[in-house]
Amino acid sequence: MASHRVVCWDCGADVGDPYVYLCPRCGGLLSVKMDLEHVKEMEPKDLMKEPLGVWRYAPFMPVDPSHRVSIQEGGTPLYDARRLAADVGVSEAHVKFDGLNPTGSFKDRGMTVGVSRARELGAKVVGCASTGNTSASLAAYAAKADMKCAVFLPSGKVAAGKLAQALFYGAKVLSVDGNFDEALGLAREMAEKRRLYLLNSINPYRPEGQKSVLFEIMDQLGYDVPDRIILPVGNAGNITAVHKAVMELEEVGWIDKIPMLTGIQAAGAPPVARAFAAGKDDFVPEESPETIATAIRIGNPVNGRRALRAMYDTGGSCTTVTDEEIIDAQRLLGKTEGVCVEPASAASVAGLRKLLSMGVIDKGERVVCICTGNGLKDPDAIIQNSPPPIPCGNSVEDVERILSS
Ligand SMILES: *Cc1c(COP(=O)(O)O)cnc(C)c1O
Repeated sequence: MASHRVVCWDCGADVGDPYVYLCPRCGGLLSVKMDLEHVKEMEPKDLMKEPLGVWRYAPFMPVDPSHRVSIQEGGTPLYDARRLAADVGVSEAHVKFDGLNPTGSFKDRGMTVGVSRARELGAKVVGCASTGNTSASLAAYAAKADMKCAVFLPSGKVAAGKLAQALFYGAKVLSVDGNFDEALGLAREMAEKRRLYLLNSINPYRPEGQKSVLFEIMDQLGYDVPDRIILPVGNAGNITAVHKAVMELEEVGWIDKIPMLTGIQAAGAPPVARAFAAGKDDFVPEESPETIATAIRIGNPVNGRRALRAMYDTGGSCTTVTDEEIIDAQRLLGKTEGVCVEPASAASVAGLRKLLSMGVIDKGERVVCICTGNGLKDPDAIIQNSPPPIPCGNSVEDVERILSS
């Protein structure tokens, strides 16, 4: 572990109180500032004795590993997606399949660090608002840490698998009469009353764990930095974390090239993409976001401004994709690579396709798509968009007739 400070992302003020989630001086978001001096003396191979996963990168993490609450998160595969690359027409495409985390999404990377931090603080109750995957992940890590857990979900808007997980791990599942942004407001109020340690996207420790997806990609590519990394953007915590990881690797001298960070939003929930198209540093919230990709159905992204900074600073890009493009990309991943992702995750591949056709992405690029969540989270999205099972009699003749038609 490195020593660190929690500072305001806007005004730089130091914030000491772990139950304060916004800068007391200016209201800005908080961020962890790592002291990486000792890492500068290390090389990537010095970390290799730990298995691939979040805690391999403990020197970049702000929590002492002795407090670690882990279910062996991270260490997900990076597929060399040759058939996908050929289909979309790019020279090299890799798929980082974060749906193979313990609870089926990348949220576990942040949650292992966030809940370890809660343990370090001696917290007894943790909570979050969620479009689904954050609550599934927090519920699992709270169970592992023997902490009470409250999750605030927008009623009726959570995919079946995610809801099942939160219930299964024994969290108090609160169905809020409102959308995600309203559920978050309620969770924040409870945190301000110090009734729970809040593990939403405004928690500065979660992105620290989420940096590990970028560290792993670099390890898996032998530090041969790709031209571009594409990922879906909802609350924009993940792209912010990936950006921070890139900057930290540059700071310690482990990379000398910066990948273009490229965020993809759903057409029905596009505040960051709209701001990017207008060249703005801030975004206008979307009142009623709507998309099949429930994990990115977010109108007022907590880290939206940081996402914009990440894309501008790395020469990246941002666009939207329609639900139809998302479903097509989801199928394409299944058909070409045998990978089943949830709709939000397919947005990265849909975005790759679209930006290639627009000429924003060059055919010669080496691209990594981060696929954030497992397709089994949301079976309804797949079943509703697939041909139904074929009714069949009960004889070999019936089967032969069907297979030859
Ligand atoms: C949370 C989530 C996202 C969005 O990530 P942000 O950090 O909110 O931008 C995308 N895909 C999946 C599967 C998620 O669970």
